[in-house]
Order: sequence, then C-alpha cells, then structure tokens
Amino acid sequence: MARTALVTGGTRGIGAAISKALKEQGYQVAATYAGNDEKAKAFTDETGIQTYKWNVGNYEESKAGLEKVESELGPIDIVVANAGITRDAPFHKMKPEQWNEVIETNLTGVFNTIHPIWPGMRERGFGRIVVISSINGQKGQFAQVNYAATKAGDLGIVKSLAQEGASKGITANAVCPGYIATEMVMAVPEKVRDAIVGQIPTGRLGEPEEIARCVSFLVSDDAAFINGSTISANGGQFFV
Ligand code: NDP
Repeated sequence: MARTALVTGGTRGIGAAISKALKEQGYQVAATYAGNDEKAKAFTDETGIQTYKWNVGNYEESKAGLEKVESELGPIDIVVANAGITRDAPFHKMKPEQWNEVIETNLTGVFNTIHPIWPGMRERGFGRIVVISSINGQKGQFAQVNYAATKAGDLGIVKSLAQEGASKGITANAVCPGYIATEMVMAVPEKVRDAIVGQIPTGRLGEPEEIARCVSFLVSDDAAFINGSTISANGGQFFV
C-alpha cells in the first residue's frame, strides 16, 4: 500500500509544490491549510489531493485533524511541517502579538504536527519528518527576530528528533529555502525584492519545485542514512 504523506500548508506556495511532487511519486497525500478555502478548493480541483483545514498552532485541533487524516488515508508515514507565516517588524517596533503569532505557527505548530503521530511512527518502525526552516533561521534577518527565532528553533527540533527517532527507523531533516517566488515573497515591495535578488549569486528567486525536489529525496528510502541534516537551497546566498 502507498505510504501516506501529510504536508502542512500544502495548498499554496512551496507546500503545494511539495504535495504535488509527493503525489507524483506515488504517495497518498493530505494537504492542510489554515483558512483560505478558495485556494484549497482550487488546489484539490487541479490536483485531486485531499485537503484538511486546521490551525497548526492549536494542539487539540492538530491532534483531531491528524486523527481524521489517519482514519481516512491510513497511518501517516511522512510528515512535512511546512506551514509558516511572517509578521515582520524591526525589533523596537515588534509587538508581542507579532512575536506570539509567529512562535505559535512556525515553532509550536511543528511540535503540534509531529507530536501526536510520533508514537505511531515509533510503533511501526518507520517515519520521515521534514521541517521547512529558512535561510533566515540560519543567518538571522533584519525585522525578523520572531521569524528567525522560530526557524532556528525548527533546526533544534529536527536535530533532537533525529537522535530520538534513529533507532526506530525515523529520520528528521530540515530544508532551508532561500528566497522562493511564492505569495509570501511576492508580497514584499518590489524594490526590496529586487535588492534581495541582487544578493543571490544565482541572480534569481528560487522556484517552489526546487524545494519540493529536496523534500522528495529526503522522504525516500534512498535517504535512510540522512538524519538530522539541513539542506540549504538558496542559490548560493548563504553557506553554513
Ligand atoms: P505561503 O504563504 O505561500 O503558504 C503558506 C501555507 O501555510 C498556506 O497553505 C497557509 O494556509 C498555511 N498556513 C499558514 N498558517 C497556518 C496555520 N496557522 N495553520 C495551518 N496552515 C497554515 O508560504 P510559502 O510557501 O512561501 O512558505 C512555506 C514555508 O516555507 C514556510 O514555513 C516559510 O516560512 C518557508 N520559507 C519560505 C520562503 C520563501 O521564500 N517563500 C523562504 C524560506 C522559508 P492558507 O492558504 O489557508 O492561508
């Protein structure tokens, strides 16, 4: 039977490209989203991929949503924690709400997505976890104290889970995209975007499919010995 893959924030941007790539590889895919029903419906109409709506920042909602996915598609073998938001502001202007919202979605959301299905992966002796972090979690970024903190925290989650899951056939890895042409980045003013592209040696934004291909590899059987790693896909903008 085909393995089941869950992609949070899997209906738009990078997540949508990941959902499609995993479906093309033969996995059963569940794509989640937060509230944009219109985009989710268009995504299902286009791809045939089933979508589920819940807030990754809420543990009980996540647990119930994951149970629903498992009851409909079978045990989740692969989880791609991709859902993420930005609430940018220079630190002296950052409001506690901006800090809290980003922490809740990008960091607690990763815990809420993995924790309820972790015991099942341990019991079955197989699991593939990929967390979508960010170049800005590796290097920090002006006006993104909140976002950079969560994305750096995501790397800590992955490295720790890699150690806890290894003996149970579970791997946990991260992908750190650079600037990718999604709505998140296209929402940035054009002038700022041009300046960003100027910092990318490859001379362009990345494509969501380029991140999806990293994920496809990390969840495959071929990647069984890759655990606790970070793949940077940023056009040469930053080296760790
Ligand atoms: P988009 O804004 O294009 O899409 C975000 C997706 O996440 C949507 O499906 C959205 O659902 C979902 N989502 C947001 N908040 C929640 C929530 N609380 N609960 C459940 N789902 C939620 O994002 P990108 O594709 O640009 O980014 C995807 C990931 O990649 C993020 O983690 C981001 O931080 C990371 N990243 C992106 C980069 C880029 O250049 N774009 C660079 C580096 C990292 P809905 O449609 O309902 O709003």
